[in-house]
Amino acid sequence: MIKSIPYGKQYITEEDIQAVIEVLKSDYLTQGPTIEQFEQAFAQYIGSKYAVAVANGTAALHLAVLALNLEKGKKVITTPITFAASANCVLYAGGEVEFVDIDPKTYTIDINKIDYLLKRLKSNEVRGIIPVDLAGYPVNMEDLKQIAERYGLWLLEDACHAPGGAFKDSEGNWQQCGNGTYSDAAIFSFHPVKHIATGEGGMITTNNKDLYEKLKILRTHGITRDKNLLSRYDGGWYYEMQMLGFNYRITDIQAALGISQLKRAQQGLIRRRQIAQVYLKELSNVGDIVLPYSNDTIKHAYHLFIIQTNYRKELYEFLRTKNIFCQVHYIPIHTFPFYQQFGWKWGDFPVAESYYQKCLSLPMFPTLSDDEISYVIHCIKAFFQNKE
Ligand SMILES: *Cc1c(COP(=O)(O)O)cnc(C)c1O
Repeated sequence: MIKSIPYGKQYITEEDIQAVIEVLKSDYLTQGPTIEQFEQAFAQYIGSKYAVAVANGTAALHLAVLALNLEKGKKVITTPITFAASANCVLYAGGEVEFVDIDPKTYTIDINKIDYLLKRLKSNEVRGIIPVDLAGYPVNMEDLKQIAERYGLWLLEDACHAPGGAFKDSEGNWQQCGNGTYSDAAIFSFHPVKHIATGEGGMITTNNKDLYEKLKILRTHGITRDKNLLSRYDGGWYYEMQMLGFNYRITDIQAALGISQLKRAQQGLIRRRQIAQVYLKELSNVGDIVLPYSNDTIKHAYHLFIIQTNYRKELYEFLRTKNIFCQVHYIPIHTFPFYQQFGWKWGDFPVAESYYQKCLSLPMFPTLSDDEISYVIHCIKAFFQNKE
C-alpha cells in the first residue's frame, strides 16, 4: 500500500539537522553571523547583488513594498491567481490593489492587459506591479520593465515559486528569476512546500544598494547602528530609530537550515524537472487534461505541476480515496469575501475564473519516488478510463 502522497513536501537530510544543531550550540540563536552567510549564498544562487533575509515571504513582500514607496491610496497591479499575500502586502502599506487577468497559456499576469489598464487609468494613480512566477513559470521581466518604465512604476517580482527558474531575454541571455536585472526587487519564501525550506523564512533580492540598506533597517524596527547613517553619536551604546520598521528578522537557526538546503537546491530543481518530464509524457492525451505550458525561451522551476480538467473536483476527490492529496492553486483573490468589499466580483476576470474551475496541482517535490509517480499516473489514467 502506498502511503499518503501530498502535493508538496520538504526534504530534510542529516546534514541539515547537523547544521541546525551547530547553531543551537553557538552563541547566537538570532542576530548572529549565519544570517549574512545565508544572504550571501542566496544572492549568489539567484544572481542578485544583495539579499535580505526576513521572517517569511509575506514579511518580504510587506517590507519590499514599503521600501519601494507606496503613498496612501495609490495603486499596485497584481494577478488574482496567486497566494493572498501577493495582494495583501499592498493593503498593509496603505495602497489599493488593482487586479489584471491572467494569460490563458502561462497562467501568469497578462502583460497586454496591464498595458490596456494603464492606458485607461489616470497616470498618477499607479505606483507598481507585482508579477508572480506562478508554479515556477518565469514571467518575462524585460517585457514588464518596458511597461513599468513607460509609466514610471516599480517592479516587484514575487518569485516564491521560482528560485532557479529563468527566461531568455531579447539579447539571448538567460535571466534568473529574482536576479534584479529588470526588476527593482524580488521576494522568496522558505515555507516547507517551497523549493528551499527553513520552516518559516523569506528573502528579498535586489541590485539597488539604497533599497538594500533601507530593507535592512526596516527589518529590525527601523533601527540602525551603522555610524555612517547616524545623525549624531552619543557613545558606544547609541543606535537610532530612523523610520517605522518591524521585527521581521529570521533566526540563525533558520538561516543555518537555509544554507544547508541551498546546497541541494540545484539537485532538487533537476529532480522536479525530471518528474515534470514524466508527467508531461505520460499524461499527454489522457482524458481532457491540459498540461502546463513551456517553451525553449524559459526554464521552468516547477514548484507546482498544474493540470486543467473539466472533471477537476471529481478527480480531486477520486485521488484522495487513493491517498493522493492534490491541491488547488489558487482561489482567485478577487472572489474572497474580504476583497469583495473593494467592489471586486465574480465575472471581473473570466480567464482567471475559468482557470480556477479546472486547475489541480499534482504531487511535485524532489523526494517523490519513481514508484509514487507511476502510481499517481496510474490512478489518473484509471479515473479517465471510467469517463469514456
Ligand atoms: C508562499 C507564498 C507567499 C508567502 O510566503 P510565506 O513565507 O508563506 O509568508 C507569497 N507569495 C507566493 C506566490 C507564495 O507562494
